Amino acid sequence: MERKRPFASRERLESIATRYPTPFYLYDEKGLRANLERILRAFSWNPGFRQFFAVKATPNPALIQIMREYGCGVDCSSLTELMLAEAMGISGEDIMFSSNDTPLDEFAHAHRLGAIVNLDDITHIDSFAEAIEGEALPDTMSLRFNPGGDFSFANGIFGRPEDAKFGLMEPQMLEAARRLASMGVRNVGIHALLASNTLTNEYYPALARRLFELAVRLRAEAGVRVPFVNLSGGVGIAYRPEEEPNDIEAIGAGVRRAFDEVLVPAGMGDVAIFTEMGRFVTGPYGALVTRVIHRKSTYHDYLGVDACAANLMRPMLYGAYHHITVMGKEDEPATHAYDVTGMLCENSDRLASDRALPEVEVGDLLFVHDAGAHGHSMGYNYNGRLRSAELLLQADGGVRCIRRAERPSDYFATLDVLPIAPKLGVKPAASSAARPKPARP
Ligand SMILES: *Cc1c(COP(=O)(O)O)cnc(C)c1O
Repeated sequence: MERKRPFASRERLESIATRYPTPFYLYDEKGLRANLERILRAFSWNPGFRQFFAVKATPNPALIQIMREYGCGVDCSSLTELMLAEAMGISGEDIMFSSNDTPLDEFAHAHRLGAIVNLDDITHIDSFAEAIEGEALPDTMSLRFNPGGDFSFANGIFGRPEDAKFGLMEPQMLEAARRLASMGVRNVGIHALLASNTLTNEYYPALARRLFELAVRLRAEAGVRVPFVNLSGGVGIAYRPEEEPNDIEAIGAGVRRAFDEVLVPAGMGDVAIFTEMGRFVTGPYGALVTRVIHRKSTYHDYLGVDACAANLMRPMLYGAYHHITVMGKEDEPATHAYDVTGMLCENSDRLASDRALPEVEVGDLLFVHDAGAHGHSMGYNYNGRLRSAELLLQADGGVRCIRRAERPSDYFATLDVLPIAPKLGVKPAASSAARPKPARP
């Protein structure tokens, strides 16, 4: 199996670091584009196929703009994600609004943009109707399905939907579809996300088969047209070098088999396949680049780096593995075991524990792989730590800053209501009511 290789050389990273101090996120435009092409090719058998990028994974307009060139839409789940889409000129059925526990003003905002609204519960039909204040429901809506039990396949259990807060049960799907139809909705799409970061080519095909069967039932028993089946996200990536990456071509072919066996015989060969992949689209094409600033030996050998969980939370939150390459030492044997830590006052703040690496010196650059999704976007400001810049390594080899690093004044910005604000480099608010919620439609 191939070892993980960084998508930039040490020399390139050092030259970038002279302009943009570490830590920073770096995204690989070339890799992202090639991946988008593979995804579209894998589903090209389905004329209506669309990928809606899960904005929460990497909410950067420069990256989303690249996906737009390939005809991708966006999957939003919050007001600010909708605002980002709107600012990019994205509207209508290019937006899937897959939210849960949805504030009513967010339903209203999504509706005003013409988004396809994916309801997470049967009671949300009334919530949505209330939110749009008596306006007619859209022609096309979507329902999120939760089959309960375990979602398993021949070679193992993928997840336990029964314990997930998301979605409607099967009888509720039927009842909701009938209700929507009675309220003038002609097209009811279906959606489900039953497992996260799956590393098998069987997840999407098994999910698709289940949803296709439900689609046939919805049409027969609720009398609605099912325009699309949305397989959502959950397609994983190989975080560990010994893992076998998913093969999107095999995944597309597996979905096609289920489509041909279930939908086509039912006369539903016109159903479009939708996806909302986040991790699989950008994950491998983003890295966190950080520098070793301390070496400490006590009961363990520690590398102190200039990034922390505020920059990449996944290891702290889920014990997630992110492969680390010591730049310039790619081919040296891993003779040492280090805990790679950040500077938060939390012992769990580490990018890796007991990680086998070559001997590392202060000043070495570390390339933290597969941080391109649910990486920067999960960042937070504990301990007053600031989120890093995001840089794009362009296909032409140049580097473009696509989000600057946070500054102390960003951190202090919400104290603008206090007299101390100017001393913190923050412009005071005109009045304490000066920060209204974004305008309601
Ligand atoms: C998080 C999420 C996704 C994306 O999941 P990935 O695992 O990143 O592909 C898609 N749809 C919904 C509704 C989500 O919540």
